Amino acid sequence: PKRIFSGIQPTGSVHLGNYFGAIQRWVELQNSGEAVLCSIADLHSITLPQDPQKLRENVMLITATLLACGIDFKKSILFEQSKVSMHTELCWVLCTITTMARLAHLPQFKEKSESLKNVPLGLFIYPVLQAADILLYKATHVPVGQDQAQHIQLAQDLAQIFNRKFGQTFPIPHALISDNRSQKIKSLREPTKKMSKSHTDSKSRLNILDEPDVLLEKIKKSVTDFTSEITYEPDKRQGVSNLINIHSLFTGKTPEEICKEAASLNTGQYKLLLADIVIEKLSPIRNNILRLTKEPAYLNEILKEGADRATELATNCWTEVIGKVFGNDLR
Ligand code: ATP
Ligand code: MG
Repeated sequence: PKRIFSGIQPTGSVHLGNYFGAIQRWVELQNSGEAVLCSIADLHSITLPQDPQKLRENVMLITATLLACGIDFKKSILFEQSKVSMHTELCWVLCTITTMARLAHLPQFKEKSESLKNVPLGLFIYPVLQAADILLYKATHVPVGQDQAQHIQLAQDLAQIFNRKFGQTFPIPHALISDNRSQKIKSLREPTKKMSKSHTDSKSRLNILDEPDVLLEKIKKSVTDFTSEITYEPDKRQGVSNLINIHSLFTGKTPEEICKEAASLNTGQYKLLLADIVIEKLSPIRNNILRLTKEPAYLNEILKEGADRATELATNCWTEVIGKVFGNDLR
């Protein structure tokens, strides 16, 4: 049987990249009958400095967001990563079979450490913790955005290395990367880069909780080029093509259909059209999130139940792992 695991960091409001690249896929999988383990990756988020109060608020916000987007806490398991201590324990074991050379080349580490004078060790071993997250539940499928492809590959390698050393334990997890258009939503300010929660420029992303006038302003100011026509050329015209992608994902229309419809518009006019669509599509989700964030006790109860269910699954695997690594079975 399939076992699906994925995670999201409580590092701020969810943006359209998270929504189309990850959350929407989890909901589809869940609604097709699969149980999805959704981890709120708070251990990952502290690889860069976090204020505890703000972090708590962000956990509540992400929980409300996932529920508002359609995660059903009865079908899926929604939990905070730090509440299941075996993630860090398995991470340690996996650290002992990972080389530093293997980690140094991973793009996320390069991107996030680039601007730092002192690079935290946690940021470096982040992908090992991510491998532990996945393997701890013997996950077979991991729905993520394109930016995570190399991290999933590390998880596959570590599963293989562990199995070879200690005997068959982990299935090899497969990345489920969604179709071309949703796998990588670009930044509105630098359309060669991905849209990110933690990027310092808030105008670079469209958050699903943004108010209508904020969405309009960000879309209006989004970077395009000096051509005023609307054409879909993801390699040459990243800015406009990214807007067309977002349009296409919200409406189900193909980029070709959209360009045809927008044939008489210039980029400025097209942005206004797109803003209307984004505002309309996001408003029901936004209202749901705002309603749910007013019920922290309810959210905490859901997380508590999720942590209990996750702990039960994780305990089976962890017992097997320490049995093999420390020869507990040989006593
Ligand atoms: P941060 O900047 O803090 O790393 P993030 O925006 O990258 O935040 P994560 O919590 O790291 O978000 O990732 C959650 C999920 O969203 C992952 O599956 C990731 O692949 C996906 N994702 C993130 N950004 C994008 C994007 N621009 N396009 C498509 N998927 C994305
Ligand atoms: Mg990220």
